[in-house]
Amino acid sequence: MHDKPRIAIVGGGPGGLTLARILHVHGIAASVFEGDAHEWDRPQGGTLDLHEESGLHALDCAGLRGAFATVARYEDQGDRLLDRHGNVLFETADASAGDRPEVDRSSLRSLLLGALPAGCVNWGRSVRDVRARADGRWDLLFEGDVEGPFDLVVGADGAWSRVRPLLSPYKPQYSGITFVEFGIDDIDRRHPALSRLVGHGKVGIEGGGKEIIAQRNGNAHVRGYAIFRVPADWAGKRFSFGTPGVVREELIREFDDFAPEVLDLFRAAGDRFVERQIHALPIGHCWAHRRGLTLIGDAAHLMSPFGGEGVNAAMLDAAELAHLLAERADWDGAVADFETHMFARVEGIAAEAAEAAATLLSHDSHALTLEMYRDREAQMAEALRTARTTS
Ligand SMILES: Cc1cc2nc3c(=O)[nH]c(=O)nc-3n(C[C@H](O)[C@H](O)[C@H](O)COP(=O)(O)OP(=O)(O)OC[C@H]3O[C@@H](n4cnc5c(N)ncnc54)[C@H](O)[C@@H]3O)c2cc1C
Repeated sequence: MHDKPRIAIVGGGPGGLTLARILHVHGIAASVFEGDAHEWDRPQGGTLDLHEESGLHALDCAGLRGAFATVARYEDQGDRLLDRHGNVLFETADASAGDRPEVDRSSLRSLLLGALPAGCVNWGRSVRDVRARADGRWDLLFEGDVEGPFDLVVGADGAWSRVRPLLSPYKPQYSGITFVEFGIDDIDRRHPALSRLVGHGKVGIEGGGKEIIAQRNGNAHVRGYAIFRVPADWAGKRFSFGTPGVVREELIREFDDFAPEVLDLFRAAGDRFVERQIHALPIGHCWAHRRGLTLIGDAAHLMSPFGGEGVNAAMLDAAELAHLLAERADWDGAVADFETHMFARVEGIAAEAAEAAATLLSHDSHALTLEMYRDREAQMAEALRTARTTS
């Protein structure tokens, strides 16, 4: 057994927890420092679809594919596209036919947490800074105390990483897109018409330079986004976020040229409306290797969510870094090779996500979305045909 580095992982999101788990599978200990006070400290966000070559592959490496099957929602992979008058432009023929299962973010987090050794995750530990020591190792600085030394600090702390500034001067830039997020509980029982509108998966309703996306999560919950292409300070001025009832009316006014049955999404929404500005790091973001520090996931390559790749890329980063650390005696060389490979792997998907964000709400965005859905359906049908002929 080689000497393994003492590892700190900053951030217990999907990237950080997958890394901790796969290292654990290889017998390598790591400490996760997570800012949340506990697992249920804040809502974790909506549903994610995991892809075979990345997110699902990482779950295989984590030995969790079987357990994942119990929380995966294969039946909710559908897509619907409507114009603002409520006319259906596209609908997936069979929402359960795809190979990109949905999973609620909270379920994924619980799955990973349940597979870590006790004490691995240090809750309520928000890292303020990372400080170089004279011996070449690193200390983590918290409000009022210090933890260390660590040989390797992995920044898995998302968009506003505290580790990134030690490696790169770049900061995420506003993409021009702002979401106002809302949620609808118990949709099947309380709002059957809206349940049909959303279908088993996601519905996008677009027109007049605005869009609503609503997506089915587990437990008959729907998470929706009212989407605008606006300056960064627009939503804060336009919506009265302190008074949910007023936000509801303001959203209905913003979308007053949409069909009444579509606006029912806002009427049925609960009292939590949240502004989410979509940011991204530059395509091809990279840094010169520095011993003892690296980044994975959004900390390394934050991209707009329209490519649907962010969590998948974060989990694949984790799997690749863990494998290299397990295989190689020279752990610093392993980290440097991981970075080189990650930079090349991610550049293309970051470019695609940026293109998807750029065309969203453009004059031909409807046509492009429709083309994308039809292409994807044709690819799935082809894959199914090939699978049948080879079996
Ligand atoms: C609205 C929206 C929808 C999205 N939809 C999709 C989708 O459908 N599919 C998809 O693949 N991706 C989607 N994404 C992107 C996806 O959420 C991210 O790519 C993914 O969560 C990245 O995982 P991560 O572990 O790198 O970072 P995060 O999920 O951001 O986790 C970072 C963790 O670090 C913790 N943390 C932060 N700072 C500190 C600190 N200083 N000290 C300690 N802990 C800290 C945070 O509390 C958090 O737990 C979406 C994103 C948004 C905003």
